[in-house]
Amino acid sequence: MSPKDIDWKSLDFNYRETDYSYVSMYKDGKWDDGELTKDHTVTISECSGVLQYSQSCFEGLKAYTTEDGRIVCFRPDMNAKRMHDSCLRLEMPPFPEDRFVDAVEKVVKANKDWVPPYGSGATLYIRPYMFGFNPVIGVKPADEYMFRILVTPVGPYFKGGMKPVEVTIPDFDRAAPHGTGGIKAGLNYAMSLHPIMEAHRNGFNENMYLDPATRTKVEETGGANIIFIKDNGKTLVTPKSDSILPSITRRSICYIAENILGMKVEHREVFFREVAEGEFDEMGLCGTAAVISPVGQINDHGNIIHIKAGMEEMGPATRKLYDTLTGIQMGRLPAPEGWIYEIK
Ligand SMILES: *Cc1c(COP(=O)(O)O)cnc(C)c1O
Repeated sequence: MSPKDIDWKSLDFNYRETDYSYVSMYKDGKWDDGELTKDHTVTISECSGVLQYSQSCFEGLKAYTTEDGRIVCFRPDMNAKRMHDSCLRLEMPPFPEDRFVDAVEKVVKANKDWVPPYGSGATLYIRPYMFGFNPVIGVKPADEYMFRILVTPVGPYFKGGMKPVEVTIPDFDRAAPHGTGGIKAGLNYAMSLHPIMEAHRNGFNENMYLDPATRTKVEETGGANIIFIKDNGKTLVTPKSDSILPSITRRSICYIAENILGMKVEHREVFFREVAEGEFDEMGLCGTAAVISPVGQINDHGNIIHIKAGMEEMGPATRKLYDTLTGIQMGRLPAPEGWIYEIK
């Protein structure tokens, strides 16, 4: 398939092979120089560390075409840093952060025809990832690793676009206290597949996980952080916990709320009771893939909690945050220092 054959406006969120990926190998204690490749397959030992013990982590970011036709990435240095943290927790050798950003630039530039045009609603999704490569049979970290970046053009993550979604409270936990919830490890997703399929089979869009220790506090969904709005749009509240993945979108939204929109920001433990008692006017799921997706109601084992903004449209404060964030990403609004990385 060639980028010319794509109808950008109706693009879904599925993998499509593009021209180039980036690959670098770690062997004998060091990373090689890395290169672009047209080979979109990987051949590994049947006993490789990733196949046996799931030693892998990943990142996700996007490239956008701005209003004035530039190609930009949003805060790639933050992804580099977070992957560094993920690697340390999994006993993997971090890929140097400056080389990470450089590799993102190289692979986006090599695939520039695949970056969807401004105004199409589509973006180029960038997926850096790393995994244990060589055979490992006793339980231990691999000695060799492959770092790759694939890119693929995508449309909106939720099919309904900006329509509010309904989430449910699963009987499963996402991440243990002191576990791996705070890093972007593939294993966090493997265990979420059954709960998300159950949620879908029951007619819900997403699972809203509670803290596994006490089941009284809100954590996040399988792949997005949560924001709440209260005080007539004046206050943004976002849950705090070591087992929540530190979303770059959420941290950017908090910055925008406080420094651009003049809102008050509370990053603190959020009790499910507060949500059930109607403390919040608006609620949203945020992440690179979803951007901000409004939540209209929560189904807690058949008991429906209505968020005041409702199931028809995004609430006004969420809308303002969404417009500001995407305005910055698409170059319509001035960006805070260092947020926009232009691919030249
Ligand atoms: C990737 C991810 C997010 C979103 O993070 P962003 O940096 O905003 O894309 C949220 N929760 C989980 C569990 C994730 O893996």
